[in-house]
Amino acid sequence: MLFRKCVAGVGIVACLSTMIVSTALADREVKFYNISVSGHRAEDTGEALKYHHGRDTYGKFRISLDSSSQQNGTKVSAVMHNSNHESRGSGTVSLGNTAAISNTGTKGYYYHLNLQYTNILVGSGVITGYWSPDEPH
Ligand SMILES: [Zn+2]
Repeated sequence: MLFRKCVAGVGIVACLSTMIVSTALADREVKFYNISVSGHRAEDTGEALKYHHGRDTYGKFRISLDSSSQQNGTKVSAVMHNSNHESRGSGTVSLGNTAAISNTGTKGYYYHLNLQYTNILVGSGVITGYWSPDEPH
C-alpha cells in the first residue's frame, strides 16, 4: 500500500523518508502513556510488542516520566507485565528522566507496564511519558 501511494505521485523525497522511518520503527515499538495512578494504586499501560529478549543487547525496557500532576509524585515504579499480568522485571524512574530496566521478557510477545507512585502517601495523579519493551539503537 505504501509503495503504491508513492508511485501515485507523492514527492520522491517524502516518499523515501517515510520508508526509512517505517524501517527504523520496525524493530522497536514506543508507546505514549497518560494514566491515573496513586501511591497505593497501580495501573496498566497499553501493550507493545517486544523485539529483543530481555537479556539480549537492546532488550532492557525503557520508560520516561515526562509529567506528573501530583507535586509529591516525582518517582514512579514500573513493573513490566506479560499478557497474564506476571512480572518480567521492575525498576523506578524519576520525573524528567528515562530509565533502562533489566527484564526477562521474550521477543515476539506483548507486554505492558504497571505503574504507580513509589511513595505510598501520594494521592491520585495523572502521569505521562513514553515507554518501550526495548532500547533504542
Ligand atoms: Zn498488568
